[in-house]
Amino acid sequence: MHLIIAEKNISANRIAQLLAGNEKVRAVKEGSVSTYSFDNKTVVGLKGHVVEVDFEPGYTNWRSEVHTPRSLIDAGTVKKPTEKKIVNLIQKLSKKADLVTIATDYDTEGELIGKEAYELVRAVNPSVRINRARFSAITPAEIRSAFENLTDLDFALAAAGETRQAIDLMWGASLTRFISLAARRGGRDILSVGRVQSPTLAMIVDREREIENFVPQTYWMLSLATEKDGQPVEARHTAGRFTDHEAALAAEAGTKEPLVVTNVKEGQKNDRAPTPFDTTTFIVAASRLGLSAANAMRIAEDLYMNGYISYPRTDNTVYPKSLDLNGVLETLRGGVFDADVAWVQQHRRPVPTRGKKESTDHPPIHPAGAATREALGQDRWKVYELIVRRFLATLSPDATWTTTKCMFDASGEPYTATGGRLLSAGWRRVYPYSEAKENILPVFTPGERLPIQKVNLEEKQTQPPARYSQSRLIQVMEELGLGTKSTRHEVIGKLVSRRYVEGNPLRPTLVGRAVTDALDNHADTITEPEMTRTLEEHMQLIKQSQRSRDDVIDESREMLHRVFDKLEEHRKEIGEEIMEQTAEEHTLGPCPACGHDLRIRHLGVSQFIGCTGYPECRFNISLPGSTWGRAIRIEETCPDHGLSHVRLIRKGSPPWTIGCPLCSHIASNVEALRMMPSMADDIVQRLHEHHIYTVSEIAGMQPGDLAAIVGVDAEGAGRLIQEAEDALEVLRRRSELRKFIRKIVPPRKGRSHAKIARSLLEQGIGDIRALSRADPAALKKAGIGDAGASELLEAARGLCNERVLREAGMPAVSLKKYQAGGVASPDDLCYLPIPYLSSKTGINPETVHKHVDTVCRHLGRPTPAKISRVALERGRKELLEVPGIGEATVERLYLAGIYDAATLREADPEEVSSISGIAKARLYDYISHLK
Ligand SMILES: [Zn+2]
Ligand SMILES: [Zn+2]
Repeated sequence: MHLIIAEKNISANRIAQLLAGNEKVRAVKEGSVSTYSFDNKTVVGLKGHVVEVDFEPGYTNWRSEVHTPRSLIDAGTVKKPTEKKIVNLIQKLSKKADLVTIATDYDTEGELIGKEAYELVRAVNPSVRINRARFSAITPAEIRSAFENLTDLDFALAAAGETRQAIDLMWGASLTRFISLAARRGGRDILSVGRVQSPTLAMIVDREREIENFVPQTYWMLSLATEKDGQPVEARHTAGRFTDHEAALAAEAGTKEPLVVTNVKEGQKNDRAPTPFDTTTFIVAASRLGLSAANAMRIAEDLYMNGYISYPRTDNTVYPKSLDLNGVLETLRGGVFDADVAWVQQHRRPVPTRGKKESTDHPPIHPAGAATREALGQDRWKVYELIVRRFLATLSPDATWTTTKCMFDASGEPYTATGGRLLSAGWRRVYPYSEAKENILPVFTPGERLPIQKVNLEEKQTQPPARYSQSRLIQVMEELGLGTKSTRHEVIGKLVSRRYVEGNPLRPTLVGRAVTDALDNHADTITEPEMTRTLEEHMQLIKQSQRSRDDVIDESREMLHRVFDKLEEHRKEIGEEIMEQTAEEHTLGPCPACGHDLRIRHLGVSQFIGCTGYPECRFNISLPGSTWGRAIRIEETCPDHGLSHVRLIRKGSPPWTIGCPLCSHIASNVEALRMMPSMADDIVQRLHEHHIYTVSEIAGMQPGDLAAIVGVDAEGAGRLIQEAEDALEVLRRRSELRKFIRKIVPPRKGRSHAKIARSLLEQGIGDIRALSRADPAALKKAGIGDAGASELLEAARGLCNERVLREAGMPAVSLKKYQAGGVASPDDLCYLPIPYLSSKTGINPETVHKHVDTVCRHLGRPTPAKISRVALERGRKELLEVPGIGEATVERLYLAGIYDAATLREADPEEVSSISGIAKARLYDYISHLK
C-alpha cells in the first residue's frame, strides 16, 4: 500500500481526488479521522503539528526550588503526541505501507511537520521507503507533477524549523516564568515573554511613547483661489510650510493682483503596475478591504486548501519561469473575470512586473483555479477577487498620466498649481482598489492675467507619528527581520489575546507597557530585534547545511544565560516595577463606604470588586463569574460615583459592558429590596446613604444596628430582617429555576433564558416546584415549543420527586435503582404493591418495605403490610405451577397486588383484569385451578 500523508484533512481529500482522476475515492472514517483510498493508495491528513515539544517531566512546578526558571534553559525536551487519534492511525497504516509519501506544505514549518510524520512512520516501520512531494498549489497540474517528481525530505530545512521551535520554547518558558514570578502573577494573569513577541510589543510601546512625548509645532500654509472660464483653481504658495508667522503674514499681505501666469509645464508620468503579491503585501492589501491580518491569512489558507489560489505563505515577488501564466489566464476565462482576462490577453505587458524579493520555494500568490461568488461566499470571494485582480494587474501595461505644473506670480509672491489627467488607465482597468484621482487644470498661457478671489492663510500643527495598524506592523516586522511570513500575524494575535495591546491601530495596555519597561531597563536583549534577527540568519545557515542545529541552540542558550545573569540580579526591582505600574489596571476609584480604592479581584473563576481597606471595610460588589468574560477597567468614569466603568471580555464573543459597577449594583438590587413588604422609599434611601444595597446585607445585620440606620424600633428592624431572609429564599429559588431552564432548554437566537424566566415569573412560576406543576400553555407563552415544554416539565417533575424522596430519607443508591426501574414519584412508592416494586428494582422486598414506610410516613400516608422475601419466593413458585402462568404474567399479577396462590384465590377477577390487563376469562381459569 502507498500511504500519502498530507498537512490537513481537507488537503488530503483534495489530493486524493486529484490523483485518482476518474477513479472513485473511498472515504472511510476511523474514529474521527478520515482516510481517502483508491487503487492501492491511501491519503490521510494531519492537523498541522500532531506532536509538540515540551520539557522532560519534573518541570511543571513553577515554584520549585530546584527547577528554577533558569534551569529551563538547559532542561531536556521530549516530543509528545497532541493528536493521539491521528498518530495512532498513521502508525497503524504505516505498518502495512510499502511506500510513504510526505505531502505537507512546502516551507520550513511544513518540512518540520513532514519530519514529525517521518519519525512516526519510522518508529513502527524502520525499512519502508519514505519520499516527499512538493507543490505550491493544490491543483491538478501541480499535484500530478509533484507526484511524478518525488524527492526526499529536506532534513536541513526541517532542522531549521526544529531549531526555532526549541529556542522559542526555551526563551518563552524560562522568561515567562521568571517575569511572572517576579511580579507575583499566576494563572490567567501570567506575563508571557517571547522571542519575537517581546521586541514586537516593544515597537508598539515605543511608538506610544513617541506619541506622548510629541510636541506639536505650529506652521502656516498660504494659498489663493482663482478661476478661469468659471472653473475654480487653487494655487499654493511655493514656500510650502511657513514656520515663521511674521513671514507668513508678510507673504499674505504681499499677495495682490495682478496674478500672472509665468510658466506652464506639461509632462507625462508613468504609473507602474503593482508587483506580485507576497504574504506581506497581500496582508496590507487585504487590510484595506477591512480584513485583519489573521483573518486574511485564515481565508487565504482555506482558498489554498481548496485549490483556488497558490500557497499564501511566500516571500517571493517574482513569477518563476516555470509558472504557466497563460495557463492561469485561461483558467480564469469564462467566469466573472472573462472580459478583464480578455483585455489583459490583448494588452499583455512584455514582461510581468517583479518585486524586489526573489526566492525559489514558492511563486508569488496567484489564482490557481476558477471560482464563483456563490461557491465561495462573501469574505472568501472578496479575498479571491483581490488575488485574481492583482494577478491580472501584474500582467497589464502601466497607466500613464499627463501632468501640468503651472507657475503664477501675485505681485512678487510665487504660487503654483498642479494637475493630472489619466491618459491611459492600463492596469487600473482591472485593479480598482487604489483610486486614481484626476485633477484637470484649465488651459493656461504664460502672460495671462487672472483674478484673485480669495487668499487663505491656514494655521496648522504638525501631527505625531501614527500608531501602527496591524498591516503596517507586519511590514515593519518584515523590515526588521522579526518573525516569518507564517508567524507575524500570529504574533500580533497573541499580543492582543494576552491583553498587551488593544484596538486597531494598536495601543499598548498598562500591562504591556509595564512588562516592556521592566525588560528594557534590565535585559534589553529581549526587547531589541537584534537577537531574533540573528537567529533568522542562523536558520538560513542551517537550511544551507552550513551550521548545525545543536550548535545554534547552544549559542542561543549561552545568550539566554547572560540575560538571566542580569535578570536575577535585579529580580526584586523588576517585580516591584511591574506591580507598581499595573496596580492601576484594576483600580476603579473610591469606595463609597470608606474612601479607599475599590479594585477588581480575580479568584479562580470568580471575580468581584473589593475595597483595599479590607478587612476594616467589607464593602464589595459581586460580578458575574469569569466564564461570562474577564472583568477589566475601561476609560469611561461614572459622574455620580467617580468609579471607572467595567467590562467583561471573552474571546470570541462581543464584550459585556457593565458600566459603573456601583450604579449597576444599585439598580440590580433595588427590585430585590422591593420584594420586602415593609420596604418603603425612605428606607431604601436611608440604606443607600449607609452604603447598604442588597437584601443579603440586611439579612446579615443585627436588629439594633439596622434600627439605628433606618430609624425604626427593634421590632420593626427584626421584621425587616425576617423579610430580607424570606426574599433571599425566593431569590435563591428563582436563580435555581433559571439555572435549571438554562440546563435543559437549548439557547436559540431571539429567545434568551432571561426572557423565558421573566415570562414564567410574570405567570407566577418562580421556582422548580411551581414549574413541575405548570400548565404547558404557560410554557408555550414563555416561548418554549411543545417538545421543549414536555421535556422541561418532565425534568422538573423528576427533580421534585427526587427531592421529596431524598428528604424522606431514601438513600441515593436505592433512589437510582427505583429510577432505573421506572419508579420515580413518591406516589408510586406509596401506592404500588411491594412485590411489584421489588421485582422492578431487584431490591429485597423487606428493604422495599422499609423504603415505602419512610416515604409514607414523610407524606403522612398509611404504610402497606410487610412481605418477607421467603413468602415472595414461595408465592412465585405457587403461581408458576398454575397452568398458563409464566414469568410475564407473574409480573402483571404483582401490579394488582397478587403474589401467591392465596392472594390469587381471593382476587376479584373483574378488578385484577382492569389493573393487570389480563383477560377475565383467563383469570377465572387460573382461579379455578386453585380451587
Ligand atoms: Zn471601603
Ligand atoms: Zn455610578
